[in-house]
Amino acid sequence: MPNPLLIRGYEVVIGLETHAQLSTASKIFSGASTAFGAAPNTQACAVDLALPGTLPVMNRAAVDRAIRLGLAVGAKVAPLSIFSRKNYFYPDLPKGYQISQYETPVVQGGAISFLLGDTRKTVHLTRAHLEEDAGKSLHEDYAGQTGIDLNRAGTPLLEIVTEPDMRSSAEAVEYARALHALVMWLGICDGNMQEGSFRCDANVSVRRPGAPFGTRREIKNLNSFRFMQQAIDYEIQWQIDQIEDGLAIQQATVLFNPDTGETRAMRTKEDAHDYRYFPDPDLPPLVIAPEWIEAVRASLPELPAAMAQRFQDADGLGPEDAQMMTQSLPLARFYETARDASQQPKLVANWLMGEVSKRLNAEAKAIEASPVGAATLAALIGRIADGTISHNAARQVFDALWAGASTSVDALIEAKGLKQLSDSGALEAIIDTVLADNQKSVDEYRAGKDKAFNALVGQVMKASRGKANPAQVNALMKARLG
Ligand code: ADP
Ligand code: MG
Repeated sequence: MPNPLLIRGYEVVIGLETHAQLSTASKIFSGASTAFGAAPNTQACAVDLALPGTLPVMNRAAVDRAIRLGLAVGAKVAPLSIFSRKNYFYPDLPKGYQISQYETPVVQGGAISFLLGDTRKTVHLTRAHLEEDAGKSLHEDYAGQTGIDLNRAGTPLLEIVTEPDMRSSAEAVEYARALHALVMWLGICDGNMQEGSFRCDANVSVRRPGAPFGTRREIKNLNSFRFMQQAIDYEIQWQIDQIEDGLAIQQATVLFNPDTGETRAMRTKEDAHDYRYFPDPDLPPLVIAPEWIEAVRASLPELPAAMAQRFQDADGLGPEDAQMMTQSLPLARFYETARDASQQPKLVANWLMGEVSKRLNAEAKAIEASPVGAATLAALIGRIADGTISHNAARQVFDALWAGASTSVDALIEAKGLKQLSDSGALEAIIDTVLADNQKSVDEYRAGKDKAFNALVGQVMKASRGKANPAQVNALMKARLG
């Protein structure tokens, strides 16, 4: 079967490495604060500055968060893992090495699965390891000079590495979105991509179908899903161009320039042996007792995949709706509250994915900041479900609520005169008039022309100035015409 994902006859292979900044109050090996945005070097203590005689001390909260991820992705949480020194020189790395995990990481294996369109994909994880972040070089703030800010030095990171399992930029982006949603769901990372709390490196190669893996280039530090997609798409075309021109791909680290939409080689890639990894003699092995793992397991929230399954089984949502409703914990809570209050799961999901998310996106708001709360949305949906108002009228009420109307849903329906005409006496009076005025349509209907029925319903709707409850008009008219 031809592979529909082939691009110019090549198969794309992608593996992602993601740095998630762990949401601890203090750094991974020191007591300095990790809060974002402080004045340069005000949050760098002696350990972060690598002053002689200082020693690192493991932050338990960082390990806790690594265990949470490990359990959530079904990985093995290593009972013993090792911190190593990754040696390299850079001005924002005063120790001359980064403390990371190399041969024995804390999280081993696991997988993340998600829907891409209506197909379920699973991406296997190789590992997730704990490490410290480096400082920042500030090139723009000082003319002709570079400033060094060590506030970020020692910030805890969890680097999550996938197997080369992805076959398109769309798949890579969906995986990254799923991981992003998961780390926030677990409360281990704030997910703020602008501030660099969640950044991805994409390893990309291409090959002829069936051939061994091609040589990869690694696009560094992608901090938005849109850039990730653009960067990978550009990179694929660039690599195929190279190969078609008879040139070999050189393993390299590249940067994506959002202004030009291009990737450009930054340096040829180091190999692991260039870093002279060795176990850090300042830190004992990280030992995680089974009791610790069980305590973390007991504290985990219901996971998004399990919750989505529950929404399918108990609420009758489709797989895509269920995944949408579990994009974030606050959204899932909103959905559940509105569903319980209205008993209308499908309508709640539709409104959340439609009107509500449209407004939230346009105003760059999170669901927590929605001016229309779960109880109010449920009240509105209740009035659609019981036939009081039409969908169209509901949208008008929603608009008013979103704009800050402080009255209740029912008061708004009343004030705007949006109530559907459901009183059968009143409706029958209108129907009588319409039938009397449209004898031709009545005859046609009786002669077997179904369209004539719709025309008559249309006349009733018109006569009621759009307020008649269409379902009821249909029923009454059917009864009348026999
Ligand atoms: P390093 O640590 O040097 O970056 P790894 O071998 O640990 O290298 O792999 C890093 C990432 O590159 C992983 O996500 C892996 O799945 C991915 N990867 C490895 N080989 C390829 C390849 N040929 N094409 C695309 N991705 C690859
Ligand atoms: Mg790498």
